[in-house]
Amino acid sequence: MRAIVYHGPKDVRVDSVPDPALREETDVVLRVTRTAICGSDLHVWHGAGLGASGFTLGHEFVGVVLDVGRAVQTVKRGDRVLACCTVGCGACGACRRGLLSGCTRFQAGPAGNVFGFSHELPGGQAEAVRVPYADANLFAIPSALDDEQALFLTDILPTGALGAELAEVSPGDTVVVFGCGPVGTFAQRAAQLRGAARVIAVDLDEERLAGARSRGCETVRGGEDAAARLLETTRGGADCVIEAVGRPELVQQALFVARPGGRIAVIGVILQAFEILWPLAFAKNLSLRTGLVNPQTQIPKLMPLIEQGRLDPTEIITHRLPLDDGARAYEIFAHHRDHVLKVVLSP
Ligand SMILES: [Zn+2]
Ligand SMILES: [Zn+2]
Repeated sequence: MRAIVYHGPKDVRVDSVPDPALREETDVVLRVTRTAICGSDLHVWHGAGLGASGFTLGHEFVGVVLDVGRAVQTVKRGDRVLACCTVGCGACGACRRGLLSGCTRFQAGPAGNVFGFSHELPGGQAEAVRVPYADANLFAIPSALDDEQALFLTDILPTGALGAELAEVSPGDTVVVFGCGPVGTFAQRAAQLRGAARVIAVDLDEERLAGARSRGCETVRGGEDAAARLLETTRGGADCVIEAVGRPELVQQALFVARPGGRIAVIGVILQAFEILWPLAFAKNLSLRTGLVNPQTQIPKLMPLIEQGRLDPTEIITHRLPLDDGARAYEIFAHHRDHVLKVVLSP
């Protein structure tokens, strides 16, 4: 089959690789119908030291069930399903707490059991993919939703919602969101749905700021003086700050921008150690939370909003390309070319 394979920094190629097959009786093999490139795939593309190459990328995909292991109970051949980006067994202590990414029974590679970061758990930017522990990690797509409407439930929509949840966004709150990329956009949407009075979007890209304004956000241009302007417009600080980019300096800005007693959620992916201004967090009684998404716990809350038309995840799609254009798609997304916000690929 065809798959997007990581060969080294800034070198991904569409290769022919062996077809996936059932390995355990709890596995399912899917024929992928839509897949997307995520900001965290770009960490790999940039060569984020995962110490391996030659694996298939991609953790955002939906498809049709091709093959079903004997122990699988919740899906059957021919079902349309979405796969959660994080994989767990569904039965251990961590999984039962909803933290499947921290599963103690299933551990794949260095990246918290996420598809497409290792040989142990190859990704879904491919014509087909094996999904372990299918009962815990697959969700049926309701017939009313098309594949693209369901696609972002695999990761970025639950990640955005997790940001609003960790920051405890409540009715009437003023919420600052650093980042107007796909995850930032969904964090802004989640804050609006939780009843925020003001959602202030921050980004360096004027076009992305214009997009945020069209979705009902206020905007502030990012940069070194952004914190001062945010403190001014919020009259002393925001109730909630969500970091949806993955940059240490934005975590520092969040400490300045949160009001005393404010709540900060960091959902951007940061892979290096860094210092934070601890005395500021201490003196302002700030809450600072972070975490890797577990879509399994968010999907039951988000899917109905899409079905009711209160949330349209497809609003972020700017590019639809064939899987065979995968290498070019990564270039477009990595370099913010051609007004890109989100790229969807069709195998
Ligand atoms: Zn992702
Ligand atoms: Zn588990």
